[in-house]
Amino acid sequence: MIIKTFPLRAFAIISLLAVALSLLADFLASKWEREQQINDVTQRLASLRANLEFELYTNVELMRGVSAYVALNPNLSQKEFSQFVSGLLAQRNSIINIGGARDFVVRMIYPVEGNQKALGIDYRDIPAQRESVFKAIAVRKTILDGPVELVQGGVGLIARLPVFVGDETWGVISVVLDYEKVIEGAGLSKDASLNVVLKKSTDNGNTTAIFASSAGAGLVEPVSLPVKLPYGEWFIEAEPADGWTGTHFHPIFWFIATLLTLIAFYVAQLRQNNRSLHLQSFQALRRSEEKFRQFFSSHAVVMLILDEQGNIIDANEAAGKYYGYPVSELVCMRMQQIDQSDDDTVKGNIQRAFMRASSRFVRKHRLADGSVRHIEAFSTPVEIAERPFLFTLIIDITERLEYQARWELSQHVFNHSLEGIMVTDAHQHIVSVNPAFSAITGYSEQEIIGQKPSILSSGIHPPAFFKKMFQELNAEGFWRGEIWNKRKSGTVFPELLSISVVKDNDEQINYFVAVFSDITHIKQSEEKLERLAHYDSLTGLPNRVQFKLHLHHAVCRAERNKSSCALLFLDLDRFKVVNDSLGHIAGDELLIKVTERLTSRLRHSDILARMGGDEFVLLIEDYREQSELVTLASNLTQELSKPFYLSDEHEVNVGVSIGIARFPQDANNADDLLVRADAAMYRSKKTGGANFAFYTQDILVEANNRLTIAAELKRAVAENELELFLQPQFDIKHQRIIGAEALLRWNHPVKGFLTPADFIQIAEQTRSIRYVTKWLVKEVFSIVERWQSQGHDLFLSFNVSALDLSDFELVDAMNTAARQHKVDASRVELEIVESAIIENFQSARNILQSLREAGFSVAIDDFGTGYSSLAYLDKLPIDKLKIDREFTGKLNTDTQGAVVKSIIDLAANFGMSVVAEGVETQMQEAQLQQLGCTWVQGYYYSKPIPLAQFESKYLQHSRV
Ligand code: C2E
Ligand code: CA
Ligand code: CA
Repeated sequence: MIIKTFPLRAFAIISLLAVALSLLADFLASKWEREQQINDVTQRLASLRANLEFELYTNVELMRGVSAYVALNPNLSQKEFSQFVSGLLAQRNSIINIGGARDFVVRMIYPVEGNQKALGIDYRDIPAQRESVFKAIAVRKTILDGPVELVQGGVGLIARLPVFVGDETWGVISVVLDYEKVIEGAGLSKDASLNVVLKKSTDNGNTTAIFASSAGAGLVEPVSLPVKLPYGEWFIEAEPADGWTGTHFHPIFWFIATLLTLIAFYVAQLRQNNRSLHLQSFQALRRSEEKFRQFFSSHAVVMLILDEQGNIIDANEAAGKYYGYPVSELVCMRMQQIDQSDDDTVKGNIQRAFMRASSRFVRKHRLADGSVRHIEAFSTPVEIAERPFLFTLIIDITERLEYQARWELSQHVFNHSLEGIMVTDAHQHIVSVNPAFSAITGYSEQEIIGQKPSILSSGIHPPAFFKKMFQELNAEGFWRGEIWNKRKSGTVFPELLSISVVKDNDEQINYFVAVFSDITHIKQSEEKLERLAHYDSLTGLPNRVQFKLHLHHAVCRAERNKSSCALLFLDLDRFKVVNDSLGHIAGDELLIKVTERLTSRLRHSDILARMGGDEFVLLIEDYREQSELVTLASNLTQELSKPFYLSDEHEVNVGVSIGIARFPQDANNADDLLVRADAAMYRSKKTGGANFAFYTQDILVEANNRLTIAAELKRAVAENELELFLQPQFDIKHQRIIGAEALLRWNHPVKGFLTPADFIQIAEQTRSIRYVTKWLVKEVFSIVERWQSQGHDLFLSFNVSALDLSDFELVDAMNTAARQHKVDASRVELEIVESAIIENFQSARNILQSLREAGFSVAIDDFGTGYSSLAYLDKLPIDKLKIDREFTGKLNTDTQGAVVKSIIDLAANFGMSVVAEGVETQMQEAQLQQLGCTWVQGYYYSKPIPLAQFESKYLQHSRV
């Protein structure tokens, strides 16, 4: 019924509409299909492009490390290069090789195997490659070249990374990618539904195809997308494999149909649009999913997909393994939990990465086990299901950085070491030297590289030396020793050298590393020490050590040749006085002058040496007559008796005492010869100096005697064999006793009663006088204490020797005794001879000062016989002068009377008291009294007598 009511016009319209609609539907279908096709192709192409870019970037970009490494180590060898590159290359199977071309010649390559042909290529000779090499250097960027036919066969894409060392161009690092594999890896040939063409722009602005997935004519209305490269651009284009859907409808119909079906079209279009969009994203998602799944799960490289917040959206197995989390856990984590920086930094990095085609970060990531690793992250924004994500590759570079740091450190050590370092290859060609090497040898690096170390050879060492060195090197892998080498300037120098062998895994020698230091200075100081050890630094004469060697040889020679030799032992007289009164500088000058004078009197063959202090020895070889020695000795004593003039206008008079011992008459070996000459010298000294004496048997006896006495004295003190004799001192004006001098006696159990003349000098020389003085101090204090307690106003003086004034032992002993005995210190008096003071002036003065401060009295003994220098008198704390008995004895002569008079006046001037010793006659007493000296001591009144006798004789008169 409805039809029935349908009018014809309406039917026609409807028919027309139906036709139009069917036509329109046809058109729309094809139109929509076309658009859908374009969308689809674009999607797929974008995915292919992403794959391609990934292939290129991961392979090329990661090699930046190589260029950095080479820039740091411009002189690296093939081996080092291989070592470094192999570590990086493990995962990248699209790379055919990585080569290093220094100065445009390929000098190193990895792997070497299969790429030998490329070694030695000079890019300048290959026009096809030259251009891109130069360009890479000119623009300082990575240039991707190719595809090119490779010399070693196959087709490759070559990326060139320029390397600069400082401002200098080192050359280029080339990464040769397997063109086929890149194309395959990117999936360009796999997608059978697309015809894909890859084009690169040429220099003249055109493009040229470098890949086409299907043979045949160019593409029709292709979808074209740019491929981003480090430098320049490629284009990837595609059309559907079976062409675009055609639109086969006449425009008139389309126009009419449009008019008629505007609304229907609109509605349908809305619906269709909706459906198509769904379809597209569904397909895209599925394809992307598939692609990435495949990519992800299979790849050994750690990969993550992050969103803008840093959430880990996806992670591959490798990532799970690397970070130590199950993938299921990893994908619930955020980058902020792994990255060691603060959240803001991590977020900032992610945001920046989203804005760039590709970015690289070096970060620190924490693994599940808590360890922190250095990683290099390469991020590329990708779109998955229309949402932006960050596709991120993670490469662990911890070891590389450590290696680099170690390398840098060793490089630093190499460059800054003060020791010269030279590295040679197995064939002993120098391959590397450090700056210290150049500084020491004078050869610059350029001059020496390629040379052999023998260029440094001094010619001093015989071939056998080096033969032995290499034997040791081969056996031990190490050699160390001193060697003389030659600098570029020709000078020869000593060096302390260590050589070590560097072997590879197969025990083959790779390098020799030599480290050396210039030991010229050490050698010089060794020689100096050697000289010091054998020569006297003041006079330049041989010293005791050296002389003993000479003497020993001379004795051996004489023994062999049945000849003779003689030893003269020389000891200067009064040297000590010069040294102490004029100072050490004057003393030294005097010794030099003495040496000069002695030398001037010697024959060439005579050896003069200084034994120390003012002692010299002279070795005379091969003399004939004893008279020759007499003449020589008297000449020398005469020569040295002449005055010396020192530089500050001092005239000094010394002399020399000489002792002579002969081989073989006096001694049959060197040591005895020396001892006996010394003993003979001692004898000549005793005769008053400026004399010489030959060794005789009795000298030996005397010398032995001296030694036994010294040993016995110590015992004598312990066994109480010592005794004090006292000699009184009188005041003749008031006719009363004022005190006494204590004089030592020794009741020797075998030798009997000994006076000081028998043992005091020996005791001083052997230092055993110290025991004596200690004993003496105790005795004196106890006597004075007894006298004082009994009310006798008497002092007791005792004699101290030079040795007692060399340190504070005496002072300590005195102070200790003063504490133990109740005595008035002024009643204890010390007698010191002038020479004892002058020998140790400084020390003697300090000691006397402290004794004086403690209240003790000090008297100068034998005054007038010594040096009687007025200069020291006012510098010393002295209470009393004792006029030597020599003057007292000669008082009757006019001159001596004058001397005594002047001593008395002197003492008065300095506020000292004066006592005359050795008064033997009444006349002497009278004269002394006349001259104003009222204190006396001498045989005239009393000889020294035992203590008990003294006390019974004198003490009743002195009671206060
Ligand atoms: P000295 O200190 O000059 O002692 C005086 C010496 O002259 C004593 O000889 C004494 O007996 C002697 N004498 C005294 N009056 C006369 C005289 O009228 N005519 C002559 N011809 N001689 C007289 P002695 O006891 O043999 O002592 C000799 C030297 O030994 C002393 O000379 C002194 O330097 C030293 N001496 C004595 N006892 C000690 C001592 O305990 N320690 C130290 N270090 N030296 C001592
Ligand atoms: Ca005395
Ligand atoms: Ca005296």
